[in-house]
Amino acid sequence: MREMIDLRSDTVTRPGAAMRQAMAAAEVGDDVYAEDPTVNRLQEMAADLLGREAALFVPTGSMGNAICLGALARPGSEVICDRQSHVYNYEMASMSAIFGLLPRLVDGPQGAPLPEQLEAAIHPPIYYLAQAGCISLENTANVAGGRIFPVERLKAVIALAKKRGLPVHLDGARIFNSAVALGIPAAGLTAGIDCVMFCLSKGLGAPVGSLVTGSKEFIREAHRLRKLLGGGMRQVGILAAAGIYALEHNIERLAEDHANARKLANALCTMPGLEVDPAAVETNIFMVRTKNPAPDAKELCRRLAGLGVRVDPMGENLTRLVTHLDATGAQIDRAIDAFAEAVK
Ligand SMILES: *Cc1c(COP(=O)(O)O)cnc(C)c1O
Repeated sequence: MREMIDLRSDTVTRPGAAMRQAMAAAEVGDDVYAEDPTVNRLQEMAADLLGREAALFVPTGSMGNAICLGALARPGSEVICDRQSHVYNYEMASMSAIFGLLPRLVDGPQGAPLPEQLEAAIHPPIYYLAQAGCISLENTANVAGGRIFPVERLKAVIALAKKRGLPVHLDGARIFNSAVALGIPAAGLTAGIDCVMFCLSKGLGAPVGSLVTGSKEFIREAHRLRKLLGGGMRQVGILAAAGIYALEHNIERLAEDHANARKLANALCTMPGLEVDPAAVETNIFMVRTKNPAPDAKELCRRLAGLGVRVDPMGENLTRLVTHLDATGAQIDRAIDAFAEAVK
C-alpha cells in the first residue's frame, strides 16, 4: 500500500527516532514541585527564544491561550480579537465559560486587525458598557491562510494598546513560521507584547505541548491558572525533551515547509478550476478555492484520498492545505500529480 500524504494539518507529524531517543533519555522529576529538570530547561529555552523573563509548559495551545486571557483580563471584561481567530472559533468558548470574558470581534484584513479597528472596539468608560480587558492577536493567522501579521501594523497595534493601557496577548501557535519567513528572531518580532503562547506540536514536530511566555509576575499567575485548569503534570520531562529537541532542530527547517507550500501553490494555480493566490502563500498554510470545472471541496478531497492525499474541506468550495516536517519534497511532487488527476 502506498503511504498517505497528509496535508490536513501540521499537527499530524510523528516524533522521529532521534526525538524519541531524547524522550527516552530525559531526566525527570515531579513538575508540580517544579522539580523536573528537563521541563525547567525547556521553560528557560522558551523564555530566551521569546526574550521573556519566564515561561510555563502547558499541555495544549488552547489551555495556554485560556490561561493568558484569564491572567490578563478580569471577569466581565472584553477580549478584543479577530472574527477568524482561533481563540474565538476553536477553543470551546473557554474564555467565557471559565474566565467570564466576552469576545469583542473585529474583522481584520487577513486576520490581522488594524489599530483603528481595535481602537473603535474599545468601549468608552460608561458604567453600563463592559470594558476592554485585553487585545488578543494571532501570528500566523491560521484561518486566513497562515498569514503573517504585517510587522509595521503589529508595531502600531502595540503602540495603540500602550496608549490605551491595554495588555496584549499573542496566540503565536506558529510564531516561528512568521519569524523564519521574515528572518526576524521571534523575540524581536513579539517585543512589547505582554504574553506569547506558542505550540511545539505544530510545525516544530513535537507530539505534545505548548509554552506560555511572559514576565516573572505574569508566569506566577499563569502557573496558578494552569493548576486551576488541571494542567499540573508530573514527570513530564519525557514530553519536554521532545520540545527541547524540536526547538534545537526544527525551527530553521520551517523554511522548507514554506518552500513546499509555495511549490504546491504555484502548481495548483495553473490547474483548471483551482483558485490559489501564490502571492498570499507566506508560510506553510494556504487556501484553495474550487470552481467549475473542478469538483466542490468535498468531492475534491474524496478523489484526492483515492489518490493517496489526505485533505479536509473547510467549506463548500474551500480547502486548506498545510505543509510540514512529515511531508517531504518528493511527497509534494506526488501531491501535485494527485491534484492534476483529481481535477480532470
Ligand atoms: C493549533 C492552534 C492553537 C492551539 O491548539 P491546541 O490543539 O489546543 O494545541 C491555538 N491557536 C492556533 C492559531 C492554532 O492553530
